[in-house]
Amino acid sequence: MGSHRASIIPGMPELPEVEVTRRSFAQRIQGARVEAVRLGKPLRWPLGVDPASLVAQSVGEVTRRGKYLWLPLERGGLLMHLGMSGSLAFGTDPGAPGPHDHFDLVTQYGTLRLTDPRRFGAVVWSQAQDSGAAGKLLAGLGLEPFDPAFDGAHLHAALRGRRVAIKQALLEGSIVVGAGNIYACEALFEARIDPRTRSDRLSRPRCEALAAAVRETLARALDLGGSTLRDFRDAHGMAGSFQQQARVYGRAGEPCVRGDGGVVRRIVQGQRATFFCPVCQRR
Ligand SMILES: [Zn+2]
Repeated sequence: MGSHRASIIPGMPELPEVEVTRRSFAQRIQGARVEAVRLGKPLRWPLGVDPASLVAQSVGEVTRRGKYLWLPLERGGLLMHLGMSGSLAFGTDPGAPGPHDHFDLVTQYGTLRLTDPRRFGAVVWSQAQDSGAAGKLLAGLGLEPFDPAFDGAHLHAALRGRRVAIKQALLEGSIVVGAGNIYACEALFEARIDPRTRSDRLSRPRCEALAAAVRETLARALDLGGSTLRDFRDAHGMAGSFQQQARVYGRAGEPCVRGDGGVVRRIVQGQRATFFCPVCQRR
């Protein structure tokens, strides 16, 4: 755990952080009546409704789709995204909003607050999750990694005719959501696949291995978040803990943890850093 690794920790919230955030408040806010809505500086997209119209509606069951959270109200709902630097916290005594607090949903059970220094996050109202602004934003998302339909056969079929490197196909999120940069690197390592491999060259058995590795990697991140995070306000701390345990990500120049004599390489694909072992990860 040298200090050189600490410098790569800041990153945007990925699917596991969003899911852990959801679990941190979904049950506590469910059934609560909205008492007030407070907006700070503009976020990535406008709210799309008069905030006063949300008052007196009660909150339903908060769900997640990809990196979006859907907070249903009696009439419509709010689609939330943490962007590059956002975090959501729910508490009964949030205090006065600070300069980076740009959305407060004040309810009878507590206040849900979005803190987002870079303001790439968003809270967008929609009539329903599958219509209006939410419908547009969620259209085109790939399968959820824990959806039983996401398996080797699905992955193999989706990669047919795709000439891009497999790492990039995973990052696009149109086949499966959640395989962000760290998790894509780790999953490819677990599946022993060279991240530069052309997508349409992956055999069906290797797709099986990769689908399983994506699921296992994200499950591991979720477990870690659930077991180590007490203060869910810091979703970035969770990505940091996962990186500390990463088997290949961030380990350029170190020997491969498989002990195969390989030295982890760092390359750049689509402007994102990729880490892999040239010995055990094959094309
Ligand atoms: Zn290796």
